Amino acid sequence: MVTLTGKGVFGGVAIGRISFYQRAVSTIKRYHVDDVEAEIARVDAARGKAVEELQRLYQKALAEVGEANAQIFEVHQMMLEDLDYQDSIANIIRTQEVNAEYAVGTTGDNFAQMFAAMDDEYFKARAADVKDISERLVRILNAAGDGQVVADEPVIVAADDLVPSETVQLDKDKVLAFVTMKGSVNSHTAIIARTLNIPAIVDIGEGLKEEYNNKLAVVDGFTGTLYIEPDEAVLKEMEAKREEDIQKKLLLQEMKGKETVTLDGREIKLYANIGNVADAGIALKNDAGGVGLFRSEFLYLENSDYPSEDQQFQVYKTVAENMAGRKVIIRTLDIGADKQIGYFDLPEEENPALGYRAIRICLTRTDIFRTQLRALLRASAYGKISIMFPMIISVEEVREIKGILEEVKAELRGAGIKFDENIEIGIMIETPAAVMISDLLAKEVDFFSVGTNDLTQYTLAIDRQNPKLEKFYNPHHTAILRMLEMVTENAHANGIWVGICGELGADMELTETFLKMGIDELSVSPAYILPLRKKIRETDVSKL
Ligand code: PEP
Ligand code: MG
Repeated sequence: MVTLTGKGVFGGVAIGRISFYQRAVSTIKRYHVDDVEAEIARVDAARGKAVEELQRLYQKALAEVGEANAQIFEVHQMMLEDLDYQDSIANIIRTQEVNAEYAVGTTGDNFAQMFAAMDDEYFKARAADVKDISERLVRILNAAGDGQVVADEPVIVAADDLVPSETVQLDKDKVLAFVTMKGSVNSHTAIIARTLNIPAIVDIGEGLKEEYNNKLAVVDGFTGTLYIEPDEAVLKEMEAKREEDIQKKLLLQEMKGKETVTLDGREIKLYANIGNVADAGIALKNDAGGVGLFRSEFLYLENSDYPSEDQQFQVYKTVAENMAGRKVIIRTLDIGADKQIGYFDLPEEENPALGYRAIRICLTRTDIFRTQLRALLRASAYGKISIMFPMIISVEEVREIKGILEEVKAELRGAGIKFDENIEIGIMIETPAAVMISDLLAKEVDFFSVGTNDLTQYTLAIDRQNPKLEKFYNPHHTAILRMLEMVTENAHANGIWVGICGELGADMELTETFLKMGIDELSVSPAYILPLRKKIRETDVSKL
């Protein structure tokens, strides 16, 4: 048994096999090799693995879609074993003294061309298959995958690190837990794990080796411990811990349908943070009173190009409809910093967290902003949508945003397209500047939502992504608590409500403090809704 420790980002116990996350490799490099026989041996080993994969796929397909559809995987196995195909690869390696990946890629291309040129329709169709098996071989040779989890059953996904765009694209049904060598508990990958209720550990370090691929392991997200090939005693203990956790969560089910109200009668809005339509389902399952933060940028992260107005409209409308009249606060695009998207073509920056991100992009690339606002407004006709703007630092910015919003509204009115004329707008308070002018900002908008993740980062001058700084990253810092107090007072003095949508909102050590301050709303990962409701219902603010 190997025991590794990192930082737990979401409690829970998962038991399953480890599967290393494999990134897509789009180009095949050609390079010289001295030992051609060793290179050919690599191809043979890769072929063995590919055949195993195909046998598993055949069995799965046989069970799920029947013999006729499963046969293709048998055909692929036969093609891999084809002597002409194998000879061609070995020949290229020997005569050109090149690497296996190049020889396989070239053979795949040559054979595909040959098949494509045949008259017989059956052989023509084999062109795609020979490319497919060659890509499978190259992927195995590269020890890289198609950017997905290559497994038939749910696994513990291991990786050096996962960026948000990779995490959002994972097939969640196949993920029991995440474990990463690097990463920070404040990253968006960690946030996604919490939203999905998936035990996760980050910053395990180099001890997490690829040789553990496929080995049985236990993730204890409560303590941040990963046990690889656990012994009997640990396995038993962890099975019991998992069961206990499940039972605890079951007990919380009795909180469903109850009001989120303190013992002395104060009602708190308890909302969920989500990133897509599926998360809205999780929010409902946990009986969220609404959505307090829909990170709309996840929609952009999941796409390979700018999502169109209609595409966005459908997503926002679906979430609004599914939440059935409950409030849905959608935050406009917040990319940049750790959330990078290739097609935005953003320049590299020395200090991305202090750089071109969020509303700064929207106010310079207003075409993107207007498209999103149109989609949001159109969707507002189908539910109770509010719009929230991230990374605000000035009153001028808010006025500019409101100006653009009014223009977009006028366009829609002109075109006879319906939308909610009274749509609420709010801003994230996540920069010290916004805190210090919250009295002025409160006159401009309908609500505030404090983004404590960024507010902590910018107040303490600590990169939220840097694992080395985690012991200094302290959202309980008096500076942050005073800021929350100041923002709440300024909000209430101006008749607007204030919430917290950063991770701190779910921190039950501070729930009483927040209630005492007068915070009106807490928006948290769905899994924290019921425990928080219980806590709030047990609190008497008048006695604090
Ligand atoms: C925050 O900064 O606290 C927040 C909620 O936004 P994000 O984590 O997406 O930056
Ligand atoms: Mg933020």
